[in-house]
Amino acid sequence: STQPQGDIGLIGLAVMGQNLVLNAADHGFTVVAYNRTVSKVDDFLANEAKGKSIIGAHSIEELVKNLKRPRRIILLVKAGKPVDLFIDQLLPYLEKDDIIIDGGNSHYPDTNRRYEELKAKGINFVGSGVSGGEDGARYGPSLMPGGAEEAWPHIKEIFQSISAKSEGEPCCDWVGPAGAGHYVKMVHNGIEYGDMQLICEAYDIMKRVGNFSDSEIAEVFEKWNTGVLDSFLIEITRDILKKNDDDGIPIVEKILDTAGQKGTGKWTAMNALDLGMPVTLIGEAVFGRALSALKSERTRASTILGGPKADASVISDKKKFVDDLEQALYASKIISYAQGFMLIREAGKTYGWKLNNPAIALMWRGGCIIRSVFLGEITKAYREEPELENLLFNQFFSEAITKAQAGWRSTVALAVTQGIPTPAFSTALAFYDGYRSERLPANLLQAQRDYFGAHTFKVLPKYASEKYPEGQDV
Ligand code: NAP
Repeated sequence: STQPQGDIGLIGLAVMGQNLVLNAADHGFTVVAYNRTVSKVDDFLANEAKGKSIIGAHSIEELVKNLKRPRRIILLVKAGKPVDLFIDQLLPYLEKDDIIIDGGNSHYPDTNRRYEELKAKGINFVGSGVSGGEDGARYGPSLMPGGAEEAWPHIKEIFQSISAKSEGEPCCDWVGPAGAGHYVKMVHNGIEYGDMQLICEAYDIMKRVGNFSDSEIAEVFEKWNTGVLDSFLIEITRDILKKNDDDGIPIVEKILDTAGQKGTGKWTAMNALDLGMPVTLIGEAVFGRALSALKSERTRASTILGGPKADASVISDKKKFVDDLEQALYASKIISYAQGFMLIREAGKTYGWKLNNPAIALMWRGGCIIRSVFLGEITKAYREEPELENLLFNQFFSEAITKAQAGWRSTVALAVTQGIPTPAFSTALAFYDGYRSERLPANLLQAQRDYFGAHTFKVLPKYASEKYPEGQDV
């Protein structure tokens, strides 16, 4: 019999899978492709895959038979049950040291479980975050693999050649053990929620306080995209705001203002609560979507509940208004990423994962939805000090946020007095002021807890005595 030709197998020929197969084939790899609905394999081979180094498989057995050893098989199927289903179908045909990679948006506890189950069977399981949507998959996604490290030398070349590049460096590196890859992808998505909410708040302030037209707002984003906020999300927002319908009305103004969500932001916020980390901005971004979904209640409340009516005449200097807003967005974004990395750091400690912080920042630098120039600075910060306690302790960021403060504070104050909701800008500022307070009112809180629940309290070292011993339990 002939030697198998396939470098890598892929199951799941939906949008992501098809594009990733084409990407890998373009980089000189021979890909064996399979899909549950087998007709999609033939369609794909007859069309998009025609003339490329892509082999169609009509069964799991045929897929496995066509792969070089150790076999490398990527699943790009709907997260949840289908992943377990395909793992079960693959197992009878696999041998020790073969590699299964789940590239879907799986929740990291599932990846932890699958990693353990497959380890016991001698199969190396990798859970990889894949970001960048359809275009990313086709021309260079951000890839965040974690799990069985034994697999890494066998997949490194493929992964790093098909991934996005940032200044020549691949936006893909080994993240850490077990579910760490999917964990980091989850936090990426949470940060994406935060970035989007911040941009929406900036738009809302320009629209409702500044009375700007959508094309004026587009111009502001266009300008911001050449500065510290240069990023994919600012760029697409500019493009969105420029898109008018046939009747001349911007399409964005026709869209119903209730946000959907698939759950990865919620997972991040829930994990932050579990780990006791104040990841407030992502939390507010998730709640912001939840509040938007109460459209009929909001419509009723808008006729009942009073408040200030936004008044553009309060803005005497339009340029300063826009510059302040840029600073508010920049400072809030610094806080959001600082919080995201606080969460990752705590997860590393709690779950016993050694995580590669500089690589995480670099993986987000290109290919993915949150890609930005800003992430280049974060990469630099973690390269200077991989175990940096907090991003805010890095000199570049502590100086940047100190400088951005005046504009940030005036923007939040303006929004508050004008009655425009800015949950993300505001929580970022509250976090900042809390984080830089040596003393917080938790002394009173501890006294209250002691008063009604006899929880007792610790005293400040200088008041320690026989009466109030230092270090009493709380
Ligand atoms: P998808 O719609 O999430 O999944 C479709 C694929 O899953 C098809 O191959 C489908 O097979 C298979 N499938 C669905 N239910 C199944 C079941 N019960 N049993 C077996 N197979 C089943 O596809 P996608 O949008 O390309 O996404 C793939 C993965 O990547 C998902 O986990 C997604 O969350 C993640 N992801 C997506 C994006 C994006 O922009 N779309 C970005 C990053 C990550 P059939 O053809 O037979 O139905």
